[in-house]
Amino acid sequence: MGFTEIFCQDRAIASLCRAFGMGRTAHAYIFAGPEGVGKFKTAAAWADLLLCLDPVTQGDRFEACGLCASCRAWEGQAHPDFFPVYKELREFTKDGKGKAAPVDMPVDVIREFLIAKVSTRPTLSHRKVFVVSEAEKLNTASQNALLKILEEPPSTCCIVLLCTRLERLLPTTKSRTQIIRFGPVDQTRIAAHLQGLGLDATKAQYFACLSQGSLGTACHWAELEQAGANLYGFKVKLVTQLVPLKLAECLGLAEALLAGAKSILETWTGLDAATSKTDLNRRALKTVVSMVVALLTDVMKQPLGLSEPLINADQADWVGKAAARLGPQEAADKIAECFEAVRWIEAGVNERLIFERLLLRIAGSGIMPGL
Ligand SMILES: [Zn+2]
Repeated sequence: MGFTEIFCQDRAIASLCRAFGMGRTAHAYIFAGPEGVGKFKTAAAWADLLLCLDPVTQGDRFEACGLCASCRAWEGQAHPDFFPVYKELREFTKDGKGKAAPVDMPVDVIREFLIAKVSTRPTLSHRKVFVVSEAEKLNTASQNALLKILEEPPSTCCIVLLCTRLERLLPTTKSRTQIIRFGPVDQTRIAAHLQGLGLDATKAQYFACLSQGSLGTACHWAELEQAGANLYGFKVKLVTQLVPLKLAECLGLAEALLAGAKSILETWTGLDAATSKTDLNRRALKTVVSMVVALLTDVMKQPLGLSEPLINADQADWVGKAAARLGPQEAADKIAECFEAVRWIEAGVNERLIFERLLLRIAGSGIMPGL
């Protein structure tokens, strides 16, 4: 896959191609931006181009030729000079066998799958390319280990760090790399793409808005929907339960949300064998919280009369009912509670406690009384 199939990241791609055309590619990059906006796909197309033995121009862009020995190895997904680095590789490190899925990027993965391989000569191409996923999970030990390479990178290597949270990287890591920024993908483009995958217009519109410009996340949801997870039906019901929520109903609804997240997780596990169950569970829980955030965001927008469409445009009457009882500031406070819940999900706090607390906070202070 080349650059042409990547949505709405023209500026990032133009900057890479300009450097490539001038023969001034960096030895280390950070691709920074939200999850699911094409950072990995761009890194893969960039690796394919850097490794290609006979690159071609297409307008002001460059692409791999698709014909040379390197491109053939790339297509066969067996390129000896391409090294994807991700935390789940710990399973294959010397001491990692049988250990639970890591939360951070273990230093052993960086040592054994990057540092140990970076200085040897490439096999097929002129360079070796390393793409480190979830670089925001590089802990201090991993970043310090990496720093030695970033300070004096071998001339034949290119290291790309994919990062959703630039502030998690040490200043010394950032100062030794070139940062390429990736913005959110246009929601209209995402909606059209989801319809192309077979979703009807209402669902496509909802998931596109919910994803906040993350095409990858929206595609995951579309895939889940197609596999029968009934994500959309779950959200429709959630909205109708959340708007008239009473304190006495919070524990029951928390139970229903946990069951919903569990059902999403089961379908997700069947679709994505490469990601650990712990990570998929977090994504399922965060998907449910994002639906709550979406409703509160709509409520916050209502009195402002913004032209921007509602995320829950398909349930505008319910948004109206909620907005009649909940002011923008209160909605904003509840959104802050949701973000707190997300932090706890990431920290591995008991799920039941997180959801019970969140719903009690949403129903509390009489801001959403029964209708
Ligand atoms: Zn080629």
